[in-house]
Amino acid sequence: MNQERYLVVVSGPSGAGKDTVVRQLRQQHPEIEFSVSATTRAMRPGEQDGADYYYLSAAEFERRIAAGEILEYTCYCGNYYGTPKLEVDRRIAAGRTVVLVIEVEGAANIKRIYPNATTVFIRPPSMEELERRLRNRGTETEESIQRRLARAAEELGLADGYDAQVVNDTVEQCARDLYAVIQARQA
Ligand code: 5GP
Repeated sequence: MNQERYLVVVSGPSGAGKDTVVRQLRQQHPEIEFSVSATTRAMRPGEQDGADYYYLSAAEFERRIAAGEILEYTCYCGNYYGTPKLEVDRRIAAGRTVVLVIEVEGAANIKRIYPNATTVFIRPPSMEELERRLRNRGTETEESIQRRLARAAEELGLADGYDAQVVNDTVEQCARDLYAVIQARQA
């Protein structure tokens, strides 16, 4: 189905700046929509329920899985993260461009469900820079930073399986590169 091409899956290591890049993309191209995921992790300062994530208890998350309301989900660093089915299906049906910012397992699952989806991997300029960004964020414990760095190394090993890769050196350039990929796939 051709409309699946309008489904854009963005992955990349935690700290690579995916959310910032996608926010920039949407500022420049407001027609691009964003799928809000559900999670059981705690809300970070500055985040908003329903805008950044839907924050759920583990019991509620599991209820939604059982009810078939979650398109794909994974357990990442001890918490559930998943894509509500409705967030994606109604936008694909309406022919909208929708961006999912999800980790690598979720991206592979989406590609199985929607083989024509567009997958893009956002790389940090280097592992050193990734660690610096994670630390500067100031929201993670040392344990969480170490888990995220270990996971980042694994995720970078899967980048070649994506339709395209972009480097987040500067947010502006990376958002432009991401838009170019989306446009090229939809042409
Ligand atoms: P964070 O805790 O930093 O917000 O997110 C941790 C990781 O979970 C990130 O790589 C993020 O992209 C991923 N993630 C967020 N939402 C989803 C989702 O709905 N499904 C999957 N599979 N991963 C997600």
